[in-house]
Amino acid sequence: MTFFHKDDRAGTVVDRLGRLGEISDEPGVLTRTFLSDAMAIANAQVEAWMRDAGLEVDIDRWGNLIGRLRSPQPSARTLLLGSHLDTVRNAGRYDGPLGVLLALAACEELRRDDVILPFHLDVIGFSDEEGVRFHSAYLGSKAIAGLITAEDIHLRDEGGAPLGEVVGGSEGLPHARYAPGELLGYVEAHIEQGPVLEAAGLALGVVTAIAAQSRYTAIFTGLAGHAGTTPMNLRRDALTGASEFISLVERIAGETEGLVATVGQIKVEPNISNVIAQKVSLSLDVRHAQSSSVAAVVGRLGQEATLLADRRRLSFSLVKIQSSEAVDCDPSLTTRLAQAVEKQQERAPHLLSGAGHDGVILSRLAPIAMLFVRCRAGLSHHPDEHVEPEDISLALRALVTFIRELA
Ligand SMILES: [Zn+2]
Repeated sequence: MTFFHKDDRAGTVVDRLGRLGEISDEPGVLTRTFLSDAMAIANAQVEAWMRDAGLEVDIDRWGNLIGRLRSPQPSARTLLLGSHLDTVRNAGRYDGPLGVLLALAACEELRRDDVILPFHLDVIGFSDEEGVRFHSAYLGSKAIAGLITAEDIHLRDEGGAPLGEVVGGSEGLPHARYAPGELLGYVEAHIEQGPVLEAAGLALGVVTAIAAQSRYTAIFTGLAGHAGTTPMNLRRDALTGASEFISLVERIAGETEGLVATVGQIKVEPNISNVIAQKVSLSLDVRHAQSSSVAAVVGRLGQEATLLADRRRLSFSLVKIQSSEAVDCDPSLTTRLAQAVEKQQERAPHLLSGAGHDGVILSRLAPIAMLFVRCRAGLSHHPDEHVEPEDISLALRALVTFIRELA
C-alpha cells in the first residue's frame, strides 16, 4: 500500500516515470539513446509537463532539455537541478529520469506554495549520459559545459553517421551554456545503483565524491599446445596465469579501504576445450575516491602480474583503455543537502559514487552535489530496477527543503 499526502507530488513523479518508461527506441524494452526518435518524444513529453508547471523551456541542438523557473531578480544566479533522460539498452525506468522528474516536481511544489526564489531554478534533462549511441558518455553535459572536442565531432554511430552531422553541422563547437560563476551549483538526485542504502535501512544518502576510475585490458600470452600430449611442467598456459591474476586483483583491492577492482570480461584464444590457451585478455576496472589510490593499485598489479608471468614463462601487458579523475562534491552544498536529508530520516549517510554521473562534467563549471535514493537490491541498468514510491516522496521532500533553505 502506498500512501501519499494529498499535496504530495511524489505520486505524480511515479506516474510520469511510468509514462517515460514506455517511450523507447525498441519495442518491448526500454532503450532511449542520444537524439533518437524516442528521445525527441520523451523530451516533448517532459517539455509539456514543464510548460504546465510554468517553466520556460528550451531544447538545444544537442538534445538537452532545459526548463527555467525564473526568479523575479533578472540578474540572479542559477541553481541547476536534473539528471539525464537517455538510457542504456534494456534499461530500468529510474536511472536518470528520476532526477529530472524530482527536480520538476520540486518546482511545481515551490510554485504551488508561492515561494519566490532569489535565484533562477533550471531543470535539465541531459541528452546523453550513458553513451550508448556514440560509445562516448556525457555528450549532453559536455555540450552544456562547452567541453565537446573536435575529436568528439568525428565520432560515428553504428550506422556510420558522424556526430557533427547528427547534431546538424559540425561548424563551431558549442560554447558553455552558463558563464563562469553563473551557476550556484548543480544538484542531481539519482538512484544509488548500489546496495549500501538498502543495507543501512535508509532511503537517502549524500555523495561525497564520484570515484576515480581506470579501465585496462590485461593480456597474458603463452603457447598453445595439445591438451593430451603437453606435460604439465612444459606448459605455458595463459589461462592459468590469468586465473592467478584474477585472484591477485581481488586480494590487492581488498587491502585498500574503499577501493573496488573488477575483472568482468575474459577472452580466451583459441578457446577450445582440448587446446592449452595461448592468449587471454582480461578487463580490469579499478575505482576509488582518490585518483592516487587507483594509480597505486594499478601500478602494483602491473608489477605482481609481471612477476607471475615471468614465473610461468608468459608475457604480460597492461593496456589503458580509459581513466577519469575523482571528482569531489562541494562540501558546502553537500552539508546543506545532508541537513535537508536529516529532516526526512534519522541520519544522512555519506556515500562514494562508484558510478560516473553528469556531475563529473558539470564540476568543471560549478560546484556539484548529489542526492542518492535507495533502489531495490542495488539493481540498476536492468528492467527490474525499482525505487519505492515512499522513497521518492522522501527524496522530493529533501530536495524541496534543500532549495528553500538555500533560498
Ligand atoms: Zn544515470
